[in-house]
Amino acid sequence: MAKITFLGAAGTVTGSKYLVEAEGKRLLVDCGLFQGSNELEQRNWNKPPVDPSAIDWVILTHAHIDHTGYIPRLVHLGYRGPFYANAATSELCQLLLPDSAHLQEEDAQFIAKKGYSTHQPPLPLYTVAESQAAVKQFSEIPRAQPFTISPQFSVRPHDAGHILGSSWLELTITENGKQILVVFSGDIGRYNQPILKDPEPPSRADYLLCESTYGDREHPEGDAAELLAGIVSRVVKRGGSIVIPAFAIGRTQTFMYYLRQLEDQQRIPRLPVYVDSPMALSATDLYLRHKEDHDLEYAREEGSDGKGDPLSVHEFHLTRSVEESKAINNVKTPCIIISASGMVSGGRVLHHLVQRLPDARNAVILAGFQAEGTRGRALQEGAKSLKLYGQDVPVAAEIVELGQFSAHAGKSELLRWLAALPSPPKQTYLTHGEPAAAQALQAAISEKFQWKAAVARYLDTVPVGG
Ligand SMILES: [Zn+2]
Repeated sequence: MAKITFLGAAGTVTGSKYLVEAEGKRLLVDCGLFQGSNELEQRNWNKPPVDPSAIDWVILTHAHIDHTGYIPRLVHLGYRGPFYANAATSELCQLLLPDSAHLQEEDAQFIAKKGYSTHQPPLPLYTVAESQAAVKQFSEIPRAQPFTISPQFSVRPHDAGHILGSSWLELTITENGKQILVVFSGDIGRYNQPILKDPEPPSRADYLLCESTYGDREHPEGDAAELLAGIVSRVVKRGGSIVIPAFAIGRTQTFMYYLRQLEDQQRIPRLPVYVDSPMALSATDLYLRHKEDHDLEYAREEGSDGKGDPLSVHEFHLTRSVEESKAINNVKTPCIIISASGMVSGGRVLHHLVQRLPDARNAVILAGFQAEGTRGRALQEGAKSLKLYGQDVPVAAEIVELGQFSAHAGKSELLRWLAALPSPPKQTYLTHGEPAAAQALQAAISEKFQWKAAVARYLDTVPVGG
């Protein structure tokens, strides 16, 4: 019988990897990096539970690093097959994977210099050269048409509304002439958000793997634009600046979209906005170019006269080099700095926080999911100081959570998506959530739909068959 093994995103939100086996063939769905605590990150270094050279194909739901960041490592360890992804996802990965490698190289160098490594000597998980070699194994699949991988596996991707190119997958497994349909949710996005289309509803699933990132939480009510306008106005009034830890892809474009709208409506002053990321411009360009992902509202704004590019604020500064990035430290007038990483686990946002956190006039906006063990989570939970580059930095700045900007469906949005299924799956596995979130969604599914649902356990193998 066909089977699935949870190689990641089981009991945690990162490291998405599901191994599907049928008739002796092996398909890996997603190839994500573990992020967060040292214990989780150690898994990226461990010998994988399955020999990568024995995997036949890899297919990706979307470009986020927790779904793709293990790709260069998989290739390094012997995987020679294709990475199937749609055009937008492949193009995003061509930016993201070398960037992920670059950040790891920088961190390893920095740790070596400071001498506080737990590994001796500190090494990057993979190099930029390895990541560039790995993206050569990408193979493009259609955005929304069925695609046959092999006699055992065929897939139909659907819009997930999470980031550009994001899909949930309908995987048909054929074994001994029998067909089984497994739905992989990938990451489900939000309804009625700017730029991207809403998540497409599922119509059938024999088995379902559903993410549960926000399985125990609702996003706060309230108009995102209104809240952002309020924060910007009060910070500017007290002469402060705003730091937004955000990944260059996805939330950066959402913030730019709202800031541009608020400027045009004169609800906020025109401020210099520094997007401190070498790849943000390329990512924004991809957002503009991949029109197949745009919702109607966005398409209208793009087309309307005089508005121009809806993803560009009036006083936009893009910084590429480290020197340009450091020069932002000299900006003493109110400004907005958008910089990675979104969970403050690394990247250039660290030095902006060293600079801006100790000043009570400033604000930090946390918009995305903050995983356990990350500095972002510590800030969210009211830490009085933050360890940055080995030093304790006092937190005096205002910390604002704007869940309205999340790219993930909240609990009721996940249930709304699931409710579209006309008949219950034989079994539902909850993945991509911390234990409390996965359990809460499991309880909600049992109560609302009376479906059989289980929380996926790391390295468990489960049968999927008729
Ligand atoms: Zn994601």
